[in-house]
Amino acid sequence: MITEAWCLENDVYCLFTQNENVAIAAKEAGLKIMADYYKNGKLYALQFLGSEDKVKDIVNQQFPEIPLKNPKEAERRIVAHKVKCVRCGRDVLTTANRQKYCPNCRTKAYAEAHRKAVRNHYLKHKPDKLETL
Ligand SMILES: [Zn+2]
Repeated sequence: MITEAWCLENDVYCLFTQNENVAIAAKEAGLKIMADYYKNGKLYALQFLGSEDKVKDIVNQQFPEIPLKNPKEAERRIVAHKVKCVRCGRDVLTTANRQKYCPNCRTKAYAEAHRKAVRNHYLKHKPDKLETL
């Protein structure tokens, strides 16, 4: 039964576990669920996110091993997941299902999209004014 932790960035640590007792401790410590892993509709692992202290504290404790309990649908709440920025390829954590960009690229990408939209609008409605843009 696997329980492991690693540094995500700075003080943010990931805790991966297949042990229900570890999951309970993680929830009690206030760690957030980052991902859940299902195989054939059965929960087999959970990944949490939290500060280095809290994660290491849990990892260093010896918990009796019991498999994860399958949560009811209503109890499933994923607060964050990883997406690859489509502009620079960096991995970012997000809670939004439609996020495409990392914070660095977001501003530039939105500006690009806006420029393109304005240009298209002018092409369609005021082609004579386009030269002065
Ligand atoms: Zn990016």
